[in-house]
Amino acid sequence: MLIDAHAHLNGYDLLGPGALDAALAEIEHHRIFTISNSMDLPSYRRNLEIAGACGLVLPVFGIHPWYAPDYVDRLSELRAPIEQSPILGEIGLDHHFVEDKAAHEAQERVLEFFFKAAAEQDKIVILHTKGAERDILALLNRHHVRRMIVHWYSGPLKILRELEERGAYFTIGIEAAYSRRVQDIVLAIPPDRLLTETDNPGGPKEFIEQPGSPALLRDVVRKIAEIRQTSEEAVLHVVRANLLMLMRGDPRLADAVRVIRAAHAA
Ligand SMILES: [Zn+2]
Repeated sequence: MLIDAHAHLNGYDLLGPGALDAALAEIEHHRIFTISNSMDLPSYRRNLEIAGACGLVLPVFGIHPWYAPDYVDRLSELRAPIEQSPILGEIGLDHHFVEDKAAHEAQERVLEFFFKAAAEQDKIVILHTKGAERDILALLNRHHVRRMIVHWYSGPLKILRELEERGAYFTIGIEAAYSRRVQDIVLAIPPDRLLTETDNPGGPKEFIEQPGSPALLRDVVRKIAEIRQTSEEAVLHVVRANLLMLMRGDPRLADAVRVIRAAHAA
């Protein structure tokens, strides 16, 4: 069993006919438990449909910071999908790819709306923190969000430590094969907080020059094993144990936990 804690399976629709079916076949073949994140309402609806076709896919709802300006004036429309979704992602702030200050304000308001819900409903959040690591920490100090996955972290190690103290888990993706900075982050993450991801299909593109396929996760695992000087089996084992620990005792994730355990036994 492999764990892809951060993908966007709805993104395969844009790659032409057959692309999604091929991705799902690969997910089944390699037994990849996949958390399919949403960017907005339409992508969430699509992820729900996709999950209906594959039992290894967990669809989750979030408004990505790039789409926050579209939703900041219609937050009430987000209540029902937030309530329905067992995890909230992808949410966060982005001050790296987005430079417009008005958009930053919208991002912050949308993120606070999600943080309030996550605290009230005691849900795991999946965070995008690009260039806004300090601001995310400041917001976390105002809301009681107990469990979080920080996706593709690339910020300062000092803030990684502070996020770790707040209970964060961290996903590592394919950039670990290309960037010295991410390799340092791979070494800085405590073993009990490590997770794996692809950010498929779009995320890996700038590194592998084509959209990622689910089996890319094998390369991620191999690279992490190399950097941490351990075996691929050990990485797979620890990542699976970490996700189970993070999900432990959450009634909304009982089915997901069963799927992860059963796939392992098979
Ligand atoms: Zn993403």
